[in-house]
Amino acid sequence: MTFSADEEFARQLDREDALAGFRDRFHIPTGANGKPLIYFVGNSLGLMPKATRQAVDQELDDWSRLAVDAHFDAATPWYSYHETLREPAARLVGALPNEVVCMNSLTVNLHLLMVTFYRPTKGRAKILMEEPAFPSDTYAIKSQIAHHGYDPEESLILAKPRSGELALHQEDIEGIIEKQGDEIALVLFAGVNFFTGQLFDISRLTSLAQKQGCMVGIDLAHAAGNVPLALHDWNVDFAVWCSYKYLNSGPGAAAGAFVHERHARNRELPRFAGWWGNDPATRFRMQLEPDFVPVPSADAWQLSNPSILAMAPLRSSLAIFDEAGGMSALRAKSLRLTGYFQFLLQQASSEVFTVITPPEPNEHGCQLSILVHERGKELFERLEAAGVKCDFREPNVIRVAPTPLYNTFHEVWRCAQILARHR
Ligand SMILES: *Cc1c(COP(=O)(O)O)cnc(C)c1O
Repeated sequence: MTFSADEEFARQLDREDALAGFRDRFHIPTGANGKPLIYFVGNSLGLMPKATRQAVDQELDDWSRLAVDAHFDAATPWYSYHETLREPAARLVGALPNEVVCMNSLTVNLHLLMVTFYRPTKGRAKILMEEPAFPSDTYAIKSQIAHHGYDPEESLILAKPRSGELALHQEDIEGIIEKQGDEIALVLFAGVNFFTGQLFDISRLTSLAQKQGCMVGIDLAHAAGNVPLALHDWNVDFAVWCSYKYLNSGPGAAAGAFVHERHARNRELPRFAGWWGNDPATRFRMQLEPDFVPVPSADAWQLSNPSILAMAPLRSSLAIFDEAGGMSALRAKSLRLTGYFQFLLQQASSEVFTVITPPEPNEHGCQLSILVHERGKELFERLEAAGVKCDFREPNVIRVAPTPLYNTFHEVWRCAQILARHR
């Protein structure tokens, strides 16, 4: 696609955008001047869909009206509430419905699935992850390694950027897997890296790692709702994600977990068990059923009766993804929106900043990460003052994530104007 840096061209792209109407489904915060903010932090906390208030109110109403009977008599019975999320969530990550469950929060799910899929042995105790990684993932991994009696210093392998670079080379990751694969118990990678916005080739990583006998887990925190995924076909062993970033389900919303069918059906796998993972047919026999009978699906990893108030927002937010035509339609717009941003930043030909996100469309999602060589904090403050919400990561990276559901080409144009003027 050929772009132009003219303001009118940005407006033309908005007029031609078939998904433009979805912006109106969201509450957009306003700045001090009463105008809507340019909200480019959907990678951190997605905007609230207008339909969400009613979805949450419904559960409060059912609680007030029915109390305990809402488990079975609510408009959406609480007993099987999570099942209403299974199919829309499965579509988003490219899974079969029985491979997906919405529960807990991301780091909790990471731990629960590592209990099953990180089974270190003397010769094969290592975990491979990428650097830079999100701290919660690093803490979870190191504590799991230590929990099994191994030394995180020895057993955690980091795939690092080359010197002077910030994004990884896929071939470098593959080199580690080829060389050290027989010592690696688990490859635990992000789908999209939170810092650089780099999208990894999950399919290739998975098949290479599995050839070496490793398990493969993917953290989709920055990938779910951002890029198309095909977890089942890629044969990923397990995956986890949160729902408050690109999925717009609100702070602390129920997170997601994927367990590939070939494991999900296996009732012999070691796991931490709780009553909500037990066969629902016998769950309420209570003390009469002391032996855990796991549901033969991802549901078996559930522990507690779920937070209905943390799941209600998923119903309204995931429905929007389906209405918009799913991830392929959203990705098509996203590539245009972020591609336009890349173009404008290139036109600025600034020596003051460098986009560290890989430029190839198959190596990034919505987000561009901009390394500012001089006075980065000042530039960030200028953006804030102009009503552009983005974020600053120490020491000097500004992350900007235009999302296809609620951002416009003209917003991207306005943001790029400010960046281009920084000298
Ligand atoms: C956002 C994010 C988290 C947050 O974890 P919570 O358990 O949801 O608080 C963890 N890991 C990654 C990679 C993230 O991007």
